[in-house]
This record gives sequence, structure tokens and C-alpha cells, in this order.
Amino acid sequence: MTRVNFINCFTYRGKILKLLLNYRLRIRKLILSQDRDSGFTTRNLYVFITNGFSRQFRNLALVLTVIFFIGCEKETINLTPESTLLTLNTSLPAPCIALTFDDGPDPAYTGMILKILKEKNVKATFFCVGNKMKKYPKITKRIFDEGHTVANHTIDHSNIANKSFKDAFTNIMRTEKIIDSIIGSSQKLFRPPWGKIKKEQKDSLSKYGFKVFLWNVNSKDFAISKYSPYMIVDMVIHGAQNNDIILFHDSDYKGKESRMSTVIALPQIIDILRAKGYVFKKAEDLTNNNKISETKENLLWE
Ligand SMILES: [Zn+2]
Repeated sequence: MTRVNFINCFTYRGKILKLLLNYRLRIRKLILSQDRDSGFTTRNLYVFITNGFSRQFRNLALVLTVIFFIGCEKETINLTPESTLLTLNTSLPAPCIALTFDDGPDPAYTGMILKILKEKNVKATFFCVGNKMKKYPKITKRIFDEGHTVANHTIDHSNIANKSFKDAFTNIMRTEKIIDSIIGSSQKLFRPPWGKIKKEQKDSLSKYGFKVFLWNVNSKDFAISKYSPYMIVDMVIHGAQNNDIILFHDSDYKGKESRMSTVIALPQIIDILRAKGYVFKKAEDLTNNNKISETKENLLWE
């Protein structure tokens, strides 16, 4: 009886192998989730398959395991249409995304965020407040030393839309000099506090060589009483699209509020976006900078 079944196994080999291939994926997932280091071995599989078998069927299980592995090899080769599809997908340019952090440097949270970015191998742009950079030059230098960009967010986090261009420009240039004094250079990358800037101010800044950045996705991590880390992750993941700039805060501009929500949400956001195929770039390195003025929050140039 066993022999007949065994022959049938070969008669319906294709079907069985397909079934086993599906099981292979499930089992592999299970084994990996149980013990990441043990990996996926024949022994693991054999133990798994034979687990529910009585003693007399162990040999059959062993044979099935062997067929299964040979079958997997064959199936991989036979999956030509899907393999082609995969190749086509990977040949498409990967979507890009930029993470930005405003209102720092902060003695508590900037370091935690830098640690996460280092672990995840992501480079970002930090729009820093001049007075805080003066107060925390070591943290400012560390941002730069770890490969991120230190950019300009005014000297005192003031609303430049309420200022004359002369006053706004003086404020921005003083901040630029602070950046230069700490890291030895500055790139004229500016983000106005609250995204508020007049169109003529923006145009004049452009004439002086500044690039002005807003954002496309607001993580709302500043509203700590309203949004949990989970909600922040959810908002960012569902709002993000190719070439988007995401707004986070590594500090409270008044220096009073916690930014732990940002610290908790950030690793998950990076992992999920990466799993979706996104490549992380600095805001100034995104190719489609025109998109910056089309913010989803209607925070257009005022
Ligand atoms: Zn700000």
C-alpha cells in the first residue's frame, strides 16, 4: 500500500512539489521567526515534517523531504514568467524619500535620533536653530560628522513672513555663519519655521543662492498629546510617496516638550518604507525638488 502511494507520489510529482514548495515557504517563515540564527536547514525541515508522523512513516517523510528539495530546485528553474516579472520590477528606479528633522539640536533627543539613523544607515537633513547650535556645538558637529546635513532654520525660530526681507535675511545669514563656525562650511539650505515665508522672500533668497525647503508629509510628531507613536508611523507610511520630504522634529523649538514619540516611531517608519522599496536620500539630493512647493498641507509660500 505504501509502495503504491509512493509511486503515486512520482506520478503526481508536479502537484506534490508545488504543494511542498508552498509549505517550504511557510515552514521557512516559521523557522526563521522562531530562531533567526538557526536559519533553514534540512534537519529543521525533516524534524518539522516528521513531527506529526508516526514511526512507520518516518522513512516516507525522509524521502518526501529529499523529493521536496530536488523539487524546489526544479520549481525555481521552472518559474520563468514570475522570475522575469521580478527582474522587471527590480529594474525600475527605486522610489526615493527624505527624512528631515527640525528645531534641534537637542541635548536629549538629537543623539537618540542620530543613533537610530546610524543603525539603519540612513542620512538625513537637520534644520537647526542658530541659538541652539551655539548652545550645543558638539551635537551640531556630531550631526555633520555622522554624514547628515546641518541646515538653516533661523537663529531664533521666528516667523520670517512677518519680517522685512532685510531683517529675515540678516537672521538667516547669522544662522548660516553659526553653521560655518561649527562645521567649517554651510550649504545655504533653509526651511522657514512653520513653513511660513512670503513668495518674494523665497525668490530673493533664491537669488542669494539659497534653496528653500518645506515638506510633503508632516509626521505631526510635535503634537505629542494628540498623536501616539503608532499614529505617527501610520500617518507617515500612508502619506509617503516617491520624492517626498518627511517632516520630523528632533526637538521642541521652545526646548520643553518630549520627542520620545519621534524616537519610538522612527525605526519602524524606516523599516517599513525600506521594505516598500524606498531609498533614503537627503532632502537636497532628491531629484524632483519642484514637489517641495506642492505640500499636501497647503502650506504654500505665503
Ligand atoms: Zn521649526
